[in-house]
Amino acid sequence: MSRPELRVSSSVFRTNIEAVRTRIAPSALMLVLKDDAYGHGLAWAVETAVQAGVERFGSYDIAGGLSVRRIAGGDARIFAWATSTDAEVDDALLQQIDLGVGTIAYLRRIITRAEALGVCARVHLKIDTGLHRNGILPEDWAATVAEARAAERAGLLELDGVWSHIAEASDEEDDDAQEVFLDAVRVVGESGPVPASLHLTASAASWWRPEMRGTVSRIGAFCYGIRSADGPELPGVRPVASLVATVVDVDAGDAVISIGSFDGFPSTLRGVDVGTPDGARNLMAVDQTTSVVAGWPGLRVGDEVTLFGAGERGESSATTLAERIDTVGEEILTRLTARVRRVVQD
Ligand SMILES: *Cc1c(COP(=O)(O)O)cnc(C)c1O
Repeated sequence: MSRPELRVSSSVFRTNIEAVRTRIAPSALMLVLKDDAYGHGLAWAVETAVQAGVERFGSYDIAGGLSVRRIAGGDARIFAWATSTDAEVDDALLQQIDLGVGTIAYLRRIITRAEALGVCARVHLKIDTGLHRNGILPEDWAATVAEARAAERAGLLELDGVWSHIAEASDEEDDDAQEVFLDAVRVVGESGPVPASLHLTASAASWWRPEMRGTVSRIGAFCYGIRSADGPELPGVRPVASLVATVVDVDAGDAVISIGSFDGFPSTLRGVDVGTPDGARNLMAVDQTTSVVAGWPGLRVGDEVTLFGAGERGESSATTLAERIDTVGEEILTRLTARVRRVVQD
C-alpha cells in the first residue's frame, strides 16, 4: 500500500515569498519556520527561501534555530524566541542566533552566559502588548531596558530589536497593542539608539495593516500559501502544499484511498469535496488507515486523489477544510504524521 504524499512546490513557495516581500516592502521579511516549516519540511523551506534571497528566519525554539543555521549557513539572521535552558542559550550564542527575550530573568541568564563565553548576545526585547504570552509588562519595561543597556555598555549584549505578538483578531485590539508597542520603542529610544529590528506583525496584519508594520515582519502562513481562517483569498499567493493519496481499491464503484485519521487527517472532515482526475468528489468516509471517495468514470486502482491543495483538481485549500472544523489551515498541515511522505516538486 503506497504512502500518502505531501507535495510541496518550490516555485509556488518562491512566488509567494516574492508576493509577500513586494507587499510588505520596505519592511523586511522574516520567514517563520516553526513546526517543521508548518509541516512542509524545514530543510527544503530554508534552502528554497535562501535561493529566493530571504535573509531572516524565525524559529520558535533554539533547537530549530540551530538547524536553520546548519542549512542556511553563516550569513542568515536567525531569531529564536522561546525561553530556553542555559545549555541551549550557549549554543545559540556560539551560533549567533538572535534571542527573543520576554522576561527579565531570561535577560539576566543570557547576559551571564554571554559573559561566561566571552561573546556578545544579540537580543530582541519583547513587550507584552496585551496577549499575556511571554512578554515584559509595560510597568517593568524601563527597568529591563536599563539592564539591557548596561550589558550593552559592558560589551555583552547588542539590543538589536523590540518586538511583540498580536492577536490579529480585531483591528481595535491590534491598534491598542500597537500603541503599547510604540511606547515601548520610544522608551528604548530615550535610553540609546533605536534598535534596527522592530517587529510586531505576522501574516495577516503585515498584509492588511500597512500602518502596523515595523522594519521587520514575521511571516509564516502566507508564505506557505495558507490564508487566514475566515479571511479573504490573497492575490498572488497560492497553497504550496497538496496532500495526495492513491486509490488502493474500488468498492461498489467508490474509491478506497490510502490515507486515514492515523495519518493525521481529521476524521471530522468526512463530507468535504476532494480532487480527483474527474474533478471534485465527496469524501464519504475517513477511517483509520483508509478513506472512501465517491467514484468517477474510469476510476482505477492507482489513480490519485488530492485531499487539499491549490484547487486544480477540484480540491479545497487546507484553510477551507479547516474552516469546516473550526480550526486553522496551519493545523491541518502540522497534524500530518511522518507516514505522510514529503515530496518536493519544482
Ligand atoms: C507563528 C508566529 C508568527 C507567524 O505567524 P503567521 O500568522 O503564520 O504568519 C509570527 N510570530 C510569532 C511569535 C509566531 O508564533
